[in-house]
Amino acid sequence: MSRVLVIGCGGVANVAIRKCCSESSVFSELMIASRTKEKCDVLAEELRKTSKTKIETAKVDADSKDELVKLINSYKPDLVMNIALPYQDLTIMDACLECKVNYMDTANYEPEDTDDPEWRKIYEKRCKEEGFSAYFDYSWQWAYKKKFEDAGLIALLGSGFDPGVTQAYVAYAKKHEFDTIDTIDILDCNGGDHGYKFATNFNPEVNLREVSAPGSYWEDGHWIEIPAMSIKREYNFDQVGMKDMYLLHHEEIESIAKNLPEVKRIRFFMTFGQSYLDHMRCLEDVGMLSTTPIMFEGKEIVPIKFLKALLPDPASLGPRTHGKTNIGCIFTGKKDGKDKTYYIYNVCDHQECYREVKSQAISYTTGVPAMCGAPMLLTGKWNTPGVHTIEELDPDPFIEALDKYGLPKTESHDPVLVK
Ligand code: NDP
Repeated sequence: MSRVLVIGCGGVANVAIRKCCSESSVFSELMIASRTKEKCDVLAEELRKTSKTKIETAKVDADSKDELVKLINSYKPDLVMNIALPYQDLTIMDACLECKVNYMDTANYEPEDTDDPEWRKIYEKRCKEEGFSAYFDYSWQWAYKKKFEDAGLIALLGSGFDPGVTQAYVAYAKKHEFDTIDTIDILDCNGGDHGYKFATNFNPEVNLREVSAPGSYWEDGHWIEIPAMSIKREYNFDQVGMKDMYLLHHEEIESIAKNLPEVKRIRFFMTFGQSYLDHMRCLEDVGMLSTTPIMFEGKEIVPIKFLKALLPDPASLGPRTHGKTNIGCIFTGKKDGKDKTYYIYNVCDHQECYREVKSQAISYTTGVPAMCGAPMLLTGKWNTPGVHTIEELDPDPFIEALDKYGLPKTESHDPVLVK
């Protein structure tokens, strides 16, 4: 029995909400609140036909702490699931603290306006001190640690696949497979084809900002930054086949490096097709990925937001995407004094996801871990107050839930390593 408030009703939230409503014994009451209430109403109406979960809907601007506090105080949830955008993380955390309720999200904070001079000053200092220049980093949310501890509340950060499940795989490897881990390669492969020359699988603005940023990895206690897409490898993925993959900066590298300081090298690779890369480079070259507003025919527009309006809605890719994803982690390290390698991953089929929840596998592989993270907090399986990323927590109940709700793990003790 629980009462959960979900904020956001986009591609990922749709999957998480559908999965929550299929487990009404845990999610007995649920409110869907988002900027566009009509989307919440359409989903709620559909789900009420089959689910025992009592579903309500509301309109909320999650950039406004006051609106959030009003909504949370009136609904009185046991947990707030933030599945809106990373821009809203801090306002929702503030509102949760004020209303004394646990918080979770799927991606770490980044500002919507990267030209804001206050934010930029802190960002530029961080770039110099830390050595990576992605717009997102954990410092903003880690700064809430003491406030959540003092309030006896939990903020669970990044309960998606990557970040999220990848960190649970790290904790699982550490708990069951290794005494010490030396290297971690996180491999995110999307072997799906949606038939468009260019489309993003989740929110285009967030996605394009992430992949057009310089890449970086962690080695021997510091960051090494490289130009975007300048390290390329090939890998033969189980059930997908041979793919080109590129080294990216990714948020979980930062938290894994902090929480497992023994690890000498952590890298993140994502697969991209040539058409995606060619389009992205061209759009970047002409300024379409810029977040800085420009005047167009007397009206201010933000180029990347305009581009988002032109691109296919990620939620519409479901019926046309075929193929599989394969996401996981390859480890090297030691057990009982001997060298050891280990690979743990999940393979997910786009069309099977669509048949189950009317969504492609990218939203599915994010929405299911969000749904699985919620009961960890609701049932007290994860109950240490503070702000936590998933590698800090016991991976077993979470991985068990993932196995049960659609993202089963596969393991190999003799993987091909990435050179
Ligand atoms: P979408 O753009 O599809 O959905 C975002 C939702 O948030 C929409 O319903 C939108 O409302 C709502 N929203 C945006 N701004 C506000 C606001 N100010 N107040 C209230 N609601 C708002 O994004 P996705 O579903 O693709 O992504 C959701 C999250 O998941 C993102 O944070 C993304 O970074 C993260 N993600 C994490 C992954 C992981 O593996 N960890 C992988 C993929 C995504 P409206 O309908 O009005 O636009």
